[in-house]
Amino acid sequence: MIGGGYVGLVSAACFAEFGLDVAVVEKDPNRLNALKKGNIPIYEPGLDLLVQNNIKANRLQFFETIKEAIPDCKAIFIAVGTPPRNGDGHADMTYVHQAALEIAKHLQEYAIIVTKSTVPVGTSRRIAQIIRKENPSLDFDVASNPEFLREGEAIQDFMTPDRIIIGIEKDRKDRAQKAQEIMSRLYQPLFQKETPILFTNLESAELAKYASNCFLAMKLSYINELADLCEQVGGNIEEIANAIGLDSRIGKYFLRPGPGYGGSCFPKDTLALIRIAQEAGTPSRLVEATAQANDARKANISGRIIQLCGGNVHNKTITILGLTFKPNTDDMRESPSIPIIHRLVEEGAQIKVFDPVGNEKAKPLLPNTVQYFDRINDAANQADALIILTEWNEFRSLTPKTLKNWMKKPLVIDFRNIYDPKVMKSENIHYYSIGRPLKE
Ligand code: NAD
Repeated sequence: MIGGGYVGLVSAACFAEFGLDVAVVEKDPNRLNALKKGNIPIYEPGLDLLVQNNIKANRLQFFETIKEAIPDCKAIFIAVGTPPRNGDGHADMTYVHQAALEIAKHLQEYAIIVTKSTVPVGTSRRIAQIIRKENPSLDFDVASNPEFLREGEAIQDFMTPDRIIIGIEKDRKDRAQKAQEIMSRLYQPLFQKETPILFTNLESAELAKYASNCFLAMKLSYINELADLCEQVGGNIEEIANAIGLDSRIGKYFLRPGPGYGGSCFPKDTLALIRIAQEAGTPSRLVEATAQANDARKANISGRIIQLCGGNVHNKTITILGLTFKPNTDDMRESPSIPIIHRLVEEGAQIKVFDPVGNEKAKPLLPNTVQYFDRINDAANQADALIILTEWNEFRSLTPKTLKNWMKKPLVIDFRNIYDPKVMKSENIHYYSIGRPLKE
């Protein structure tokens, strides 16, 4: 497994749990040193135990270089980052191509090289070219096996996925059969659980991942826009989400409004699909609109906060509960909290924050005047406003009485709709949530 991040480490630990011997290559020395000691450099529920158990069972090992790790490998997964390339939205393929080159330099016997990272259409064939050029006599196959796990539920998602997609070279029948056999063996435990495993061509597998993420992002932007509409015309977005979600053609997931989607996948994958589609001469207007709507939403949220604080946040103490882009992860990449806090600090607010696991990863991304707290009550003490940005479970049980006791002014702005407006109102809290009428 090349790359020991959110996807690589989870996949490696789960494959090891299936009983396979797994070698993980991680080039970041801090991550590598932690992993070698059995410490987990990311927050993912249950991952520490899974990694430690499989290290003990000698099925999981960590290496600094591809050269050390691959001699006995029959399958090599590339799970490195594919962040947006500066300026143009394209996925930056530097890490993937570097990994392919390193594999080509050091691989001596047959292996299948599988792309797990989310990559543009054509990448698997490009990887095959890189390898063939560097090591012309090597016998190998390529496959595309995009990963669909969600941070925060990654182990369960890997172990009991809705489906597995495996792209193989269907246009080369002799190669396709061998690749299919090896990939089927790797996922044998899931075959036994009757997980749908779809063997597609390389291009379909590569595109399926973007298609899936962009569809989900579209759903989120849609429900966010409907929430705005509700605020203007008096509808209740919870009722509408319920009403449309019960239609099995629509489905009930991804219909919760919020401050705009973030994370390491949706923002970059929407941009990447937009570029891929533009270059193919078939622009994806829906995905373009989705990304634009989300950018506008993120920019607009801080304006709403300022307005709710009476038009001015200068010298006001604002408490932010939740920094990560969603609960149960420490991932801060593209979190909506980042632009919101920057704007509030620019406007002169004093920002106090609490996040159960995100503080450390947030620090390099937020202004250095932000104060971090380990307890909610300390963060909320004497606040002029309290803002919910991530729906961590521990925020749900806060009562309006408690909040009022802590805060200087009873203003709660809830961008995740975790409280009941009636309950908040009963304690005279000035409460704003998304897309729900104030008067009910
Ligand atoms: P990450 O940044 O957490 O992990 C990537 C790791 O690869 C880093 O630790 C980096 O040091 C390491 N790395 C890079 N080049 C290397 C090399 N040549 N040799 C060894 N290690 C190397 O990223 P991630 O979140 O795990 O995402 C990886 C890929 O999976 C991306 O393409 C992403 O879009 C995709 N994906 C992510 C998620 C998610 O929820 N995070 C879900 C599905 C798919």
